[in-house]
Amino acid sequence: MDLSHILTHLGEERERGYDAVVPPIVQSGNFTYPTVAVMRATVQREMERPLYTRGFNPTVGMLRQKLAALEHAEDALVFSSGSAAIAAAVMSFVKAGDHIVCVEKPYSWTKKLLVELLERFQVSHTFVDGTDAENYRRAIRPTTKFFITESPNSLTFELQDLAAVSAIAKEHGILTLCDNSFNSPLFQNPIDLGIDLVAHSGTKYLNGHSDVVAGVLAGSAAHIRQVMSREFMTLGAVPSPHDAWLLMRGLRTLELRVNRSADNAERVARYLEGHPKVKRVYWPGLESHPQHALALRQMKRVAGLMSIELDAPDEAAVERFCDSLQRFLIAVSWGGYESLQWPVCALKGPSGYYTELPFTMIRLYIGIEDADVLIADLEQGLARI
Ligand SMILES: *Cc1c(COP(=O)(O)O)cnc(C)c1O
Repeated sequence: MDLSHILTHLGEERERGYDAVVPPIVQSGNFTYPTVAVMRATVQREMERPLYTRGFNPTVGMLRQKLAALEHAEDALVFSSGSAAIAAAVMSFVKAGDHIVCVEKPYSWTKKLLVELLERFQVSHTFVDGTDAENYRRAIRPTTKFFITESPNSLTFELQDLAAVSAIAKEHGILTLCDNSFNSPLFQNPIDLGIDLVAHSGTKYLNGHSDVVAGVLAGSAAHIRQVMSREFMTLGAVPSPHDAWLLMRGLRTLELRVNRSADNAERVARYLEGHPKVKRVYWPGLESHPQHALALRQMKRVAGLMSIELDAPDEAAVERFCDSLQRFLIAVSWGGYESLQWPVCALKGPSGYYTELPFTMIRLYIGIEDADVLIADLEQGLARI
């Protein structure tokens, strides 16, 4: 199936949607039937037929088809956040006494899921340096049931060799999940590399307009059915039909947006790498990235998120740089149309989560604006350090 068809038409049953080009938002919590017999038949299939919107909603159903096709998966679920998708997926496949191996420095709430939530249910974990796939093998115990990958991982952009990690997992009957948010489904398809489950923060590239929080989980029909009938339905982190519709609108321009963001990122990364006030650029698309060869092998392109370390004497100099930027909003999240900056020195707080990172580090998200404008803005900012 071609990409344009998936993004523009797949799942949109126009003949049942008032002949509308754009699918309707079926903003209804429940659904009705002409007879008891029809209801009885529907109740037995409540996760694939309209009965109650927590289980199935026609607008959300269209989006699920597109997302499954994008990730080369048999089925996909949409959640009300990316964190909900990851939590439901992990919780569905472990029980008390089991062990999980996770890449070190994962997304902060993935880390909290393991450290603060699953520990309470006697599910243990080991964080490993994922730059060597063998570290996953070394961490395996008889009770290991699940591997978590996030390639590249948050903030420091270290890759895991997904084909190697999934091969190790298969040898030991271990299930694998990859948080693929960074790449979008266009630049990396973990299922093609042997990974079982793919999670996305739909909040980021998939929606692309910074106006929805959503999550995605894609995988085999059997795995998705298990997550759906247990964690998805009981924890109930379901999306609203309106948010699903906004995500579908976002998908129509996904190819344009991620490629533009990646084009801009490439120009910005090369500019920053050559600047004397920038000590280091963390972006796997650069030849200087220690895993550039692996990036070329397993990713189609490198997306628009990166980190930099400034050559700044103190926090005040970092703040001068950040505060002077006019085209990079100071904000969390990423994946929208707008460029953003997320300075590590703004994260010093009681939780202390990122204190192992240098105070000179800033995560930049490169949006879809004119790259020349972004570079000029960085140039004037760097002059103030
Ligand atoms: C944002 C993000 C998440 C969490 O998604 P939410 O939609 O915010 O819950 C997970 N992983 C990565 C890599 C992210 O960037």
